[in-house]
Amino acid sequence: MSDSRHIAPEPQPGDSLDVALRIRHLHELVGQDTVRNNLQILLEAARQRGDSLDHILLYGPPGLGKTTVAHIVANEMQVNLKVTAGPAIERAGDLAAILTNLRKGDILFIDEIHRLGRAVEEILYPAMEDFALDIIIGKGPSARNIRLKLPHFTVIGATTRLALLTAPLRGRFGAVLRFEYYDINAIEHIIKRAAHLHSIPFTPEGVHTIALRARGTPRVALRLFRRVRDYAQVRANGEITAEAAAAAMDLLEIDALGLDSLDRMVLRSIIEKFGGGPVGLETIAASVSEESDTIMDVVEPYLLQLGFIERTPRGRLATRGAYAHLGIPYPQTNSPEAGEQPSLFDPS
Ligand code: ADP
Repeated sequence: MSDSRHIAPEPQPGDSLDVALRIRHLHELVGQDTVRNNLQILLEAARQRGDSLDHILLYGPPGLGKTTVAHIVANEMQVNLKVTAGPAIERAGDLAAILTNLRKGDILFIDEIHRLGRAVEEILYPAMEDFALDIIIGKGPSARNIRLKLPHFTVIGATTRLALLTAPLRGRFGAVLRFEYYDINAIEHIIKRAAHLHSIPFTPEGVHTIALRARGTPRVALRLFRRVRDYAQVRANGEITAEAAAAAMDLLEIDALGLDSLDRMVLRSIIEKFGGGPVGLETIAASVSEESDTIMDVVEPYLLQLGFIERTPRGRLATRGAYAHLGIPYPQTNSPEAGEQPSLFDPS
C-alpha cells in the first residue's frame, strides 16, 4: 500500500504519536458497547475468582481498536503484555521461547493471528488448552517427547479475517468479540479528545467535517486530524474550523464521503473497464495495480457500507449510488435491482 493513503486503516509512519493518546481504562473506550460490556464481565469474573482471564479473540476491520483493547485489558488486570504478530512467529521454536518467558496471568497479544503457520499453531493448541508445551528432544530413534508445564497465561488474538482462522484455533478462545465501525458521535468524541490533549483549538463544525470523512475508523480520524492541524497551523490561524478541514481534505484528494483516489479508481475501474460489473475482486485489484488483500480489507468494506457496490456470486457490481457519486450517467440497460430484467418474451 502506498504511504500516501491518508485514509488507510493500517498503521502508517507517524501514527506512533498516537501512543500518547492511547486510552488506559475500559470506561474511556467510547463506542464498541458490546465489546466493552463483555470485557467488563470477563475482567470482573476473573478478578473475583483470582484467576487468569480466558483467552479472547478480537476481530474486525483494521484501525478500530483491537490493539488498544489488549493494552487496556493488561492495564486493568495489572499484568504484563507481550505483543507479537502471526507473521513474526516464523518457527515453532520462536513461539516456544515466548511461551516459556510468560508468567502467571500475563497476556500474549497475537495480532494477525490468522497468519500463524501450521507448525506454530500446533504448539499453540496444547499451550492454550492445557498450559503445556510439547517439545521433542534429540533426533531419529532416540528422540524423546517431553511436556513442560506453562503458567496460566491469556492469549488475546486479533484478526481482520475471522473466516481464515482454523476451526481448532477458533475453538480455543473462550470469548470471541466483534469490533464494529464507530458512529459519527463516537468519532467526533475521539477527535475532540485528541484536540484537547494536543491543546489545538477547534469548532464543532471543524471536528464534524473531519469525522464525516473518517470511515468510522479511529485510526483514520486521528490521522486526518493531524493533517488538518498541520494545514490550520500553516495556512490558517491554527484553529480547526470547517473551512480549514475542508481545504486540507481537498489537498489530500479525500472527498466529502471520505473516499480517496484508490477508492475512486476501484469504482471507476468497475464502471469504465468492466461495464459496471459483475467483476471478480482479483481482476479489480489487478486493474488498479493494488494487492487484493488491500481491496478486500480496506476498500471494499467501506464501499459496501456506503452502498456503492454490491457483492454477488459472480463478482462486484457498481450501484446507482456509485455512478451518481462519480457523476457518471447510469446506463439504462445495466440495472442491478431485482426484477428489472427484460422479459424474453417482450414483444419489443
Ligand atoms: P487495531 O488494532 O484494531 O488495528 P488500534 O488499537 O491500533 O487498532 O487503534 C488504532 C488507533 O486508533 C490508535 O491510535 C488508537 O489509539 C485509536 N483508537 C482506537 N480505538 C479508539 C477508541 N475507542 N477511542 C480512542 N482512540 C481509539
